[in-house]
Amino acid sequence: MKKSIFLFLFIVTSLSLSAQTVSTQSRLLDDLRILASVELEGRRTGTAGAAKARKFLKSRFAEIGLKPAFGNSYEQPFEFNTQRGETLQGVNLAGVVEGRNKNLWIVVCAHYDHLGKTGNDIFPGADDNGSGVAALLALAERFAKEKPRHNMLFLTPDAEEMGLHGSRYFVANTPFPIEQLALNINMDMVSRSDTKELYAVGTYHYPILKKIIAGQIFKGFSLKFGHDEPHKGQTGDDWSSASDHALFHQKSIPFIYFGTEDHEDYHKPTDTFERIQPEFFSAVVIGIGNSLRLLDQNLSSVYKQKSKR
Ligand SMILES: [Zn+2]
Repeated sequence: MKKSIFLFLFIVTSLSLSAQTVSTQSRLLDDLRILASVELEGRRTGTAGAAKARKFLKSRFAEIGLKPAFGNSYEQPFEFNTQRGETLQGVNLAGVVEGRNKNLWIVVCAHYDHLGKTGNDIFPGADDNGSGVAALLALAERFAKEKPRHNMLFLTPDAEEMGLHGSRYFVANTPFPIEQLALNINMDMVSRSDTKELYAVGTYHYPILKKIIAGQIFKGFSLKFGHDEPHKGQTGDDWSSASDHALFHQKSIPFIYFGTEDHEDYHKPTDTFERIQPEFFSAVVIGIGNSLRLLDQNLSSVYKQKSKR
């Protein structure tokens, strides 16, 4: 009798778990489809499309239960000068999941801006970087439920494509003392790879991070290390400064940048939702989440190594 109750409970639990996984997965794809839709017009900094993207992201942050990171607001507005010398306003967004230990922070980020449109051509930026942002929402949702050990701030910087302006402003104006920032996780282009490979970039600079996340078994993709050694191979091989993690790296904050090799649709109007690879993308989000959990559990040793530098 007991045994059959146990079996019954086991079946119910695994059914509800898999149902949860499926709904998380479809939400991930729905979020990406919205971010890459024509209504958002390529999410170029300073445009109506970018404002629509923010409206959507703020509603998702609230739904997930993220605490506003800047006083009572998710928004961090800033000004910057473009290469042409015009002054533009950008807006970062961030929300927080508090940890049990409130003295150390992990910043998880993914830029939401893209290239906008030229003439009738919209650059939807599904992989770059709708994918990173949809992944960030899924991770925020997961850790809001799991309750992390340390504070996690989920940041979507603006104006990455124009020169990493949003992340530059954020690291200079963190809503907590920057000494408490132990780790940055950046995601930029994580939804497609013909070789099914995801790179974890940055562990050359911070080997302890590799120790923590290597050795996991991933389903649906393989995790590669590299693209972070200076002066190795041809130009462009080192991705240590390729996206928003560059600004954290400059401040000697340990980082991992998760990303894939460029593809034929990179920075083209053909970077569409239809061309992403749903199975690879879903698998990668689970893998990054599991890695993030391990990093959170081992954050004090990451922080100790940081302080020694
Ligand atoms: Zn990008």
